[in-house]
Amino acid sequence: MTPAAALRRIAFLLERAREPTHRVAAFRTAAAVVDALPEGELERRIATRTLTDLRGIGPKTGAAIVQAHAGEVPEYLARLEDAYAELVPLADDVAEFRAALRGDLHTHSDWSDGGSPIREMAEAAIALGHEYMALTDHSPRLTVANGLTAERLERQLDVVAALNEELSPFRLLTGIECDINTDGSLDQTDELLGRLDVVVASVHSDLRAESAAMTERMLAAVENPHTDVLGHCTGRLLIPREQREGRRQRPRPESAFDAEAVFSACVEHGTAVEINSRPERLDPPLRLLSLAVELGCSFAVDTDAHAPGQLDWQSNGCERAVETGVDPDRVVNTWTADELLEWTAS
Ligand SMILES: [Zn+2]
Ligand SMILES: [Zn+2]
Repeated sequence: MTPAAALRRIAFLLERAREPTHRVAAFRTAAAVVDALPEGELERRIATRTLTDLRGIGPKTGAAIVQAHAGEVPEYLARLEDAYAELVPLADDVAEFRAALRGDLHTHSDWSDGGSPIREMAEAAIALGHEYMALTDHSPRLTVANGLTAERLERQLDVVAALNEELSPFRLLTGIECDINTDGSLDQTDELLGRLDVVVASVHSDLRAESAAMTERMLAAVENPHTDVLGHCTGRLLIPREQREGRRQRPRPESAFDAEAVFSACVEHGTAVEINSRPERLDPPLRLLSLAVELGCSFAVDTDAHAPGQLDWQSNGCERAVETGVDPDRVVNTWTADELLEWTAS
Protein backbone atom coordinates (compact mmCIF):
# COMPACT_ATOMS: atom_id res chain seq x y z
CA MET A 1 0.00 0.00 0.00
CA THR A 2 1.42 3.40 -0.94
CA PRO A 3 1.69 6.00 1.84
CA ALA A 4 -1.09 8.09 0.26
CA ALA A 5 -3.37 5.08 -0.04
CA ALA A 6 -2.72 4.19 3.60
CA LEU A 7 -3.58 7.72 4.71
CA ARG A 8 -6.79 7.66 2.66
CA ARG A 9 -7.71 4.30 4.09
CA ILE A 10 -7.23 5.67 7.61
CA ALA A 11 -9.40 8.68 6.74
CA PHE A 12 -12.03 6.39 5.32
CA LEU A 13 -12.17 4.25 8.46
CA LEU A 14 -12.21 7.27 10.76
CA GLU A 15 -15.07 8.76 8.83
CA ARG A 16 -17.02 5.52 8.85
CA ALA A 17 -16.52 5.46 12.60
CA ARG A 18 -17.89 9.02 12.74
CA GLU A 19 -14.75 10.46 14.22
CA PRO A 20 -14.61 14.28 14.27
CA THR A 21 -14.30 15.64 10.75
CA HIS A 22 -11.08 17.58 11.43
CA ARG A 23 -9.31 14.31 12.29
CA VAL A 24 -10.56 12.74 9.09
CA ALA A 25 -9.54 15.77 7.06
CA ALA A 26 -6.02 15.71 8.55
CA PHE A 27 -5.36 12.32 6.96
CA ARG A 28 -6.89 13.27 3.62
CA THR A 29 -4.87 16.46 3.54
CA ALA A 30 -1.67 14.56 4.32
CA ALA A 31 -2.46 12.16 1.46
CA ALA A 32 -2.85 15.11 -0.90
CA VAL A 33 0.46 16.57 0.33
CA VAL A 34 2.23 13.27 -0.35
CA ASP A 35 0.64 13.06 -3.80
CA ALA A 36 1.86 16.52 -4.66
CA LEU A 37 5.52 15.88 -3.72
CA PRO A 38 7.99 15.95 -6.59
CA GLU A 39 9.69 12.70 -7.50
CA GLY A 40 12.20 11.50 -4.89
CA GLU A 41 11.14 14.09 -2.34
CA LEU A 42 9.29 11.63 -0.11
CA GLU A 43 12.35 9.37 0.14
CA ARG A 44 14.56 12.36 0.88
CA ARG A 45 12.21 13.62 3.61
CA ILE A 46 11.99 10.20 5.22
CA ALA A 47 15.79 9.77 5.15
CA THR A 48 16.38 13.21 6.67
CA ARG A 49 13.47 12.94 9.12
CA THR A 50 11.97 16.18 7.82
CA LEU A 51 8.54 14.89 6.84
CA THR A 52 6.76 16.82 9.57
CA ASP A 53 8.31 20.06 8.34
CA LEU A 54 5.80 19.83 5.52
CA ARG A 55 2.61 21.77 6.11
CA GLY A 56 -0.22 19.28 6.56
CA ILE A 57 1.90 16.46 7.94
CA GLY A 58 2.06 15.91 11.70
CA PRO A 59 3.56 13.23 13.95
CA LYS A 60 0.67 10.81 13.44
CA THR A 61 0.36 11.15 9.68
CA GLY A 62 4.16 11.22 9.40
CA ALA A 63 4.51 7.92 11.26
CA ALA A 64 1.90 6.28 9.01
CA ILE A 65 3.75 7.51 5.92
CA VAL A 66 7.11 6.15 7.11
CA GLN A 67 5.63 2.75 7.97
CA ALA A 68 3.69 2.44 4.71
CA HIS A 69 6.75 3.49 2.76
CA ALA A 70 8.71 0.69 4.46
CA GLY A 71 6.13 -1.76 3.17
CA GLU A 72 4.39 -2.24 6.51
CA VAL A 73 0.75 -1.72 7.34
CA PRO A 74 0.90 1.42 9.48
CA GLU A 75 0.29 0.63 13.14
CA TYR A 76 -2.51 3.12 13.41
CA LEU A 77 -4.22 1.70 10.34
CA ALA A 78 -3.89 -1.86 11.66
CA ARG A 79 -5.56 -0.78 14.91
CA LEU A 80 -8.42 0.88 13.02
CA GLU A 81 -8.91 -2.11 10.72
CA ASP A 82 -9.24 -4.25 13.83
CA ALA A 83 -11.60 -1.91 15.59
CA TYR A 84 -13.86 -1.38 12.59
CA ALA A 85 -13.56 -4.74 10.88
CA GLU A 86 -17.26 -4.97 10.15
CA LEU A 87 -17.20 -1.71 8.21
CA VAL A 88 -14.48 -2.75 5.81
CA PRO A 89 -16.52 -4.32 2.98
CA LEU A 90 -17.97 -0.91 2.23
CA ALA A 91 -14.75 0.03 0.47
CA ASP A 92 -15.81 -2.13 -2.46
CA ASP A 93 -19.09 -0.28 -2.71
CA VAL A 94 -17.23 3.01 -2.82
CA ALA A 95 -14.97 1.76 -5.60
CA GLU A 96 -18.00 0.60 -7.55
CA PHE A 97 -19.72 3.94 -7.06
CA ARG A 98 -16.61 5.78 -8.17
CA ALA A 99 -16.39 3.58 -11.26
CA ALA A 100 -19.94 4.55 -12.23
CA LEU A 101 -18.98 8.24 -12.52
CA ARG A 102 -18.33 9.34 -16.10
CA GLY A 103 -17.20 12.88 -15.45
CA ASP A 104 -16.89 15.86 -13.16
CA LEU A 105 -19.13 18.94 -13.19
CA HIS A 106 -17.17 21.38 -11.04
CA THR A 107 -13.58 22.29 -11.94
CA HIS A 108 -11.43 25.42 -12.16
CA SER A 109 -8.59 26.49 -14.42
CA ASP A 110 -6.04 29.30 -14.22
CA TRP A 111 -8.59 31.54 -15.91
CA SER A 112 -10.02 32.06 -12.39
CA ASP A 113 -8.37 30.75 -9.21
CA GLY A 114 -7.23 27.34 -10.41
CA GLY A 115 -3.53 26.64 -10.79
CA SER A 116 -3.41 25.03 -14.24
CA PRO A 117 -4.32 25.71 -17.84
CA ILE A 118 -7.59 24.30 -19.19
CA ARG A 119 -5.78 21.77 -21.34
CA GLU A 120 -3.90 20.28 -18.38
CA MET A 121 -7.12 19.90 -16.43
CA ALA A 122 -8.78 18.19 -19.39
CA GLU A 123 -5.82 15.88 -19.97
CA ALA A 124 -5.84 14.85 -16.31
CA ALA A 125 -9.56 14.11 -16.56
CA ILE A 126 -8.92 11.97 -19.64
CA ALA A 127 -6.14 10.11 -17.79
CA LEU A 128 -8.63 9.32 -15.00
CA GLY A 129 -10.96 7.77 -17.54
CA HIS A 130 -13.53 10.57 -17.50
CA GLU A 131 -15.70 10.96 -20.59
CA TYR A 132 -16.38 14.61 -19.86
CA MET A 133 -15.51 17.47 -17.55
CA ALA A 134 -17.35 20.74 -17.08
CA LEU A 135 -15.07 23.74 -16.78
CA THR A 136 -16.70 25.96 -14.17
CA ASP A 137 -14.53 28.99 -13.49
CA HIS A 138 -15.80 31.71 -11.17
CA SER A 139 -18.18 34.54 -12.04
CA PRO A 140 -17.32 38.30 -12.16
CA ARG A 141 -18.20 39.28 -8.60
CA LEU A 142 -15.72 36.87 -7.09
CA THR A 143 -12.85 39.23 -7.80
CA VAL A 144 -10.58 37.55 -5.22
CA ALA A 145 -10.79 34.44 -7.40
CA ASN A 146 -10.28 36.37 -10.64
CA GLY A 147 -13.88 35.69 -11.70
CA LEU A 148 -14.55 35.87 -15.44
CA THR A 149 -16.32 38.89 -16.89
CA ALA A 150 -18.84 38.23 -19.64
CA GLU A 151 -16.15 39.14 -22.19
CA ARG A 152 -13.58 36.72 -20.75
CA LEU A 153 -16.16 33.96 -20.52
CA GLU A 154 -17.03 34.54 -24.19
CA ARG A 155 -13.36 34.13 -25.03
CA GLN A 156 -13.14 31.01 -22.90
CA LEU A 157 -16.01 29.46 -24.87
CA ASP A 158 -13.91 29.80 -28.04
CA VAL A 159 -10.91 28.22 -26.35
CA VAL A 160 -13.04 25.31 -25.12
CA ALA A 161 -14.52 24.82 -28.59
CA ALA A 162 -11.04 24.61 -30.10
CA LEU A 163 -9.85 22.16 -27.42
CA ASN A 164 -12.87 19.97 -28.02
CA GLU A 165 -11.87 19.49 -31.63
CA GLU A 166 -8.52 18.14 -30.47
CA LEU A 167 -9.60 16.11 -27.47
CA SER A 168 -12.63 14.35 -28.96
CA PRO A 169 -14.19 11.91 -28.07
CA PHE A 170 -13.59 13.47 -24.64
CA ARG A 171 -16.05 16.32 -24.08
CA LEU A 172 -14.98 19.47 -22.33
CA LEU A 173 -18.30 21.00 -21.29
CA THR A 174 -18.68 24.75 -20.98
CA GLY A 175 -19.77 26.02 -17.62
CA ILE A 176 -19.51 28.39 -14.71
CA GLU A 177 -19.50 28.34 -10.94
CA CYS A 178 -21.81 31.28 -10.66
CA ASP A 179 -22.08 33.32 -7.48
CA ILE A 180 -25.54 33.51 -6.01
CA ASN A 181 -25.94 37.23 -5.34
CA THR A 182 -27.43 38.29 -2.00
CA ASP A 183 -30.78 38.91 -3.72
CA GLY A 184 -30.76 35.36 -5.13
CA SER A 185 -29.98 36.39 -8.70
CA LEU A 186 -27.06 34.83 -10.57
CA ASP A 187 -23.84 36.74 -11.24
CA GLN A 188 -23.70 36.45 -15.05
CA THR A 189 -25.83 37.58 -17.97
CA ASP A 190 -28.88 35.50 -18.80
CA GLU A 191 -27.73 35.25 -22.37
CA LEU A 192 -24.40 33.67 -21.43
CA LEU A 193 -25.89 31.40 -18.77
CA GLY A 194 -28.26 30.13 -21.45
CA ARG A 195 -25.35 29.21 -23.71
CA LEU A 196 -23.39 27.22 -21.12
CA ASP A 197 -23.65 23.46 -20.77
CA VAL A 198 -23.45 23.37 -16.96
CA VAL A 199 -24.25 26.04 -14.39
CA VAL A 200 -23.16 25.38 -10.81
CA ALA A 201 -24.61 28.04 -8.50
CA SER A 202 -22.84 28.65 -5.19
CA VAL A 203 -22.95 31.06 -2.27
CA HIS A 204 -19.56 32.68 -1.61
CA SER A 205 -20.47 35.84 0.29
CA ASP A 206 -22.53 36.87 3.33
CA LEU A 207 -22.24 33.32 4.58
CA ARG A 208 -23.24 34.38 8.08
CA ALA A 209 -26.60 35.81 6.96
CA GLU A 210 -29.56 34.78 9.07
CA SER A 211 -31.40 31.67 8.04
CA ALA A 212 -34.52 33.23 6.48
CA ALA A 213 -32.50 35.48 4.20
CA MET A 214 -30.10 32.70 3.21
CA THR A 215 -33.00 30.33 2.51
CA GLU A 216 -34.71 32.86 0.27
CA ARG A 217 -31.47 33.56 -1.56
CA MET A 218 -30.78 29.86 -2.17
CA LEU A 219 -34.37 29.15 -3.20
CA ALA A 220 -34.22 31.86 -5.85
CA ALA A 221 -31.04 30.32 -7.29
CA VAL A 222 -32.37 26.77 -7.18
CA GLU A 223 -35.53 27.87 -8.98
CA ASN A 224 -33.57 29.76 -11.63
CA PRO A 225 -34.01 27.80 -14.87
CA HIS A 226 -30.29 28.24 -15.68
CA THR A 227 -29.11 26.52 -12.49
CA ASP A 228 -28.19 22.86 -12.87
CA VAL A 229 -26.25 22.16 -9.69
CA LEU A 230 -26.33 23.73 -6.23
CA GLY A 231 -22.65 23.96 -5.23
CA HIS A 232 -21.25 23.25 -1.71
CA CYS A 233 -24.54 24.20 -0.04
CA THR A 234 -23.43 24.96 3.53
CA GLY A 235 -20.17 26.74 2.68
CA ARG A 236 -18.43 25.10 5.64
CA LEU A 237 -14.65 24.78 5.70
CA LEU A 238 -12.93 22.12 7.76
CA ILE A 239 -9.34 23.14 8.30
CA PRO A 240 -7.38 20.98 10.72
CA ARG A 241 -5.85 22.91 13.61
CA GLU A 242 -2.27 22.15 12.59
CA GLN A 243 -2.87 23.85 9.25
CA ARG A 244 -4.48 26.99 10.55
CA GLU A 245 -1.48 29.01 11.53
CA GLY A 246 -0.47 31.55 8.97
CA ARG A 247 -3.02 30.34 6.45
CA ARG A 248 -5.43 32.58 4.65
CA GLN A 249 -8.23 30.05 4.91
CA ARG A 250 -9.88 29.72 8.29
CA PRO A 251 -12.33 27.02 9.34
CA ARG A 252 -15.90 28.11 8.79
CA PRO A 253 -19.14 26.77 10.23
CA GLU A 254 -22.11 25.84 8.05
CA SER A 255 -24.37 28.62 6.84
CA ALA A 256 -27.82 28.58 8.41
CA PHE A 257 -30.71 27.88 6.03
CA ASP A 258 -33.87 25.78 5.83
CA ALA A 259 -32.38 22.68 4.23
CA GLU A 260 -35.70 20.92 3.85
CA ALA A 261 -37.14 23.86 1.88
CA VAL A 262 -34.03 24.21 -0.30
CA PHE A 263 -33.68 20.48 -1.06
CA SER A 264 -37.41 20.19 -1.77
CA ALA A 265 -37.06 23.04 -4.26
CA CYS A 266 -34.12 21.19 -5.83
CA VAL A 267 -36.39 18.18 -6.38
CA GLU A 268 -39.17 20.32 -7.79
CA HIS A 269 -36.96 22.32 -10.16
CA GLY A 270 -34.62 19.55 -11.22
CA THR A 271 -31.52 21.08 -9.63
CA ALA A 272 -28.91 18.57 -8.50
CA VAL A 273 -27.40 18.90 -5.03
CA GLU A 274 -23.62 18.82 -5.25
CA ILE A 275 -21.67 16.36 -3.14
CA ASN A 276 -18.47 18.39 -2.95
CA SER A 277 -15.42 16.13 -2.56
CA ARG A 278 -12.82 18.68 -1.47
CA PRO A 279 -11.31 17.41 1.80
CA GLU A 280 -11.84 20.76 3.50
CA ARG A 281 -15.44 21.01 2.32
CA LEU A 282 -17.08 17.56 2.25
CA ASP A 283 -20.30 19.44 1.77
CA PRO A 284 -23.16 18.73 2.52
CA PRO A 285 -22.44 17.25 5.94
CA LEU A 286 -23.76 13.70 6.32
CA ARG A 287 -26.93 14.66 8.20
CA LEU A 288 -27.95 17.08 5.41
CA LEU A 289 -26.94 14.64 2.70
CA SER A 290 -29.19 12.04 4.32
CA LEU A 291 -32.02 14.56 4.34
CA ALA A 292 -31.50 15.29 0.64
CA VAL A 293 -31.58 11.55 -0.12
CA GLU A 294 -34.77 11.19 1.87
CA LEU A 295 -36.42 14.06 -0.01
CA GLY A 296 -35.55 12.51 -3.39
CA CYS A 297 -32.87 14.89 -4.67
CA SER A 298 -30.57 14.29 -7.61
CA PHE A 299 -26.85 14.71 -6.99
CA ALA A 300 -23.57 15.56 -8.69
CA VAL A 301 -20.42 14.12 -7.13
CA ASP A 302 -17.88 16.83 -7.94
CA THR A 303 -14.29 17.54 -7.01
CA ASP A 304 -14.26 21.34 -7.28
CA ALA A 305 -10.68 20.69 -8.44
CA HIS A 306 -8.33 23.68 -8.67
CA ALA A 307 -5.42 21.51 -9.89
CA PRO A 308 -5.16 18.37 -12.02
CA GLY A 309 -4.27 16.06 -9.10
CA GLN A 310 -7.43 17.12 -7.29
CA LEU A 311 -9.61 15.59 -10.01
CA ASP A 312 -8.96 12.32 -8.21
CA TRP A 313 -10.85 13.42 -5.11
CA GLN A 314 -14.21 12.03 -6.22
CA SER A 315 -13.86 8.97 -3.99
CA ASN A 316 -14.28 11.30 -0.99
CA GLY A 317 -17.73 12.18 -2.26
CA CYS A 318 -18.47 8.57 -3.23
CA GLU A 319 -17.75 7.40 0.33
CA ARG A 320 -20.33 9.82 1.62
CA ALA A 321 -22.81 8.89 -1.09
CA VAL A 322 -22.49 5.20 -0.22
CA GLU A 323 -22.76 5.92 3.48
CA THR A 324 -26.02 7.84 3.03
CA GLY A 325 -27.53 5.46 0.49
CA VAL A 326 -27.41 7.67 -2.62
CA ASP A 327 -28.65 5.74 -5.67
CA PRO A 328 -26.00 6.03 -8.43
CA ASP A 329 -28.78 6.44 -11.01
CA ARG A 330 -29.73 9.68 -9.27
CA VAL A 331 -26.22 11.02 -9.69
CA VAL A 332 -26.23 13.08 -12.88
CA ASN A 333 -22.54 12.52 -13.61
CA THR A 334 -23.06 8.77 -13.88
CA TRP A 335 -25.02 9.64 -17.03
CA THR A 336 -23.55 9.85 -20.54
CA ALA A 337 -22.65 13.31 -21.80
CA ASP A 338 -25.68 13.28 -24.10
CA GLU A 339 -28.06 12.33 -21.29
CA LEU A 340 -26.47 14.94 -19.07
CA LEU A 341 -26.76 17.71 -21.66
CA GLU A 342 -30.37 16.81 -22.33
CA TRP A 343 -31.01 17.23 -18.61
CA THR A 344 -29.12 20.54 -18.25
CA ALA A 345 -30.88 21.93 -21.31
CA SER A 346 -34.33 21.09 -19.97
ZN1 LIG B 1 -17.20 27.57 -4.70
ZN1 LIG C 1 -15.45 25.87 -7.09
